[in-house]
Amino acid sequence: MGYYEFTIEAPAESADSLLSLTGDSGSLGAFENEKGLIIYFPDHVGIEKLCHDIERYRNILKDSGLPSDFAYNYTYISERDWNESWKKKFQPIDVGERISIIPPWEKPKNGRVSLIIDPGMAFGTGHHDTTRTCLEHIERLCKERSRDRFLDIGTGTGILAICAAKMGFREIVGVDIDPLAVDAAQRNIALNDLAGVQIMEGTISVTSGVYDVIAANLLSEILIAIASEIAVRLKPGGSALLSGMIIGQEEEVMAAMEKEGLKLKERHYDGVRWVTVVVTR
Ligand code: SAH
Repeated sequence: MGYYEFTIEAPAESADSLLSLTGDSGSLGAFENEKGLIIYFPDHVGIEKLCHDIERYRNILKDSGLPSDFAYNYTYISERDWNESWKKKFQPIDVGERISIIPPWEKPKNGRVSLIIDPGMAFGTGHHDTTRTCLEHIERLCKERSRDRFLDIGTGTGILAICAAKMGFREIVGVDIDPLAVDAAQRNIALNDLAGVQIMEGTISVTSGVYDVIAANLLSEILIAIASEIAVRLKPGGSALLSGMIIGQEEEVMAAMEKEGLKLKERHYDGVRWVTVVVTR
């Protein structure tokens, strides 16, 4: 078996929809870099079908009013080159003051907090700006207040939950609606040999109790939809870290949070694309 690596220069507003659409074509994994979305498919799907599917997804985006004028290209990777090519893409990344994200085949770095993440199929390898920003905030937030309970909504690979556990939080809960993400998160937690991290399938509504820190790296529509539940699950004085919003969407998200009694504490712009806010109660 071989693989096709597609590079799609998708505009930020379309990237998430495109990612979920390409799942229907059997994508094996994806990440984002400065060129755009990099998505892998097994070659048995057939290159003609893949190109045809992408044009079909372009029409779906257009019909939904999302930007659809993107270019793409692809390369074929043979089975033999696959491991090397995949591994090369996942070099260790240093984040914040002392965090390193490392794939399982690399050695942990001395003197740094290593988050071992198998890129697998779920979102959250640290190659995305918003994940890195969340990690930096978690590193900083845990200096500010007690590290008792941490909630990660949309845990993906489990990277933020794993970071919280390594930063000393006592009890960590991660949830994700995608069963593949739940599996990946559980595997990564085992790779990091962590206790005290519980991963559940579902959204914030499957959680209970209150948390010192809540992290939610999700699209703005979802953040708005769960604003009231975030408010209920946050301890007074706690911090909710909301990321994944495209610049311009933060006012709407903040309006939804303020309606639930949450107040803006910090706002962080990542280049020209993403914004992260910290709210408190
Ligand atoms: N926390 C990781 C992954 C973020 S990607 C990181 O910061 O890198 C967003 C994840 O949220 C995906 O895995 C997706 O399946 C999940 N998700 C989307 N909507 C959700 C919802 N309403 N509740 C819980 N998880 C959700």
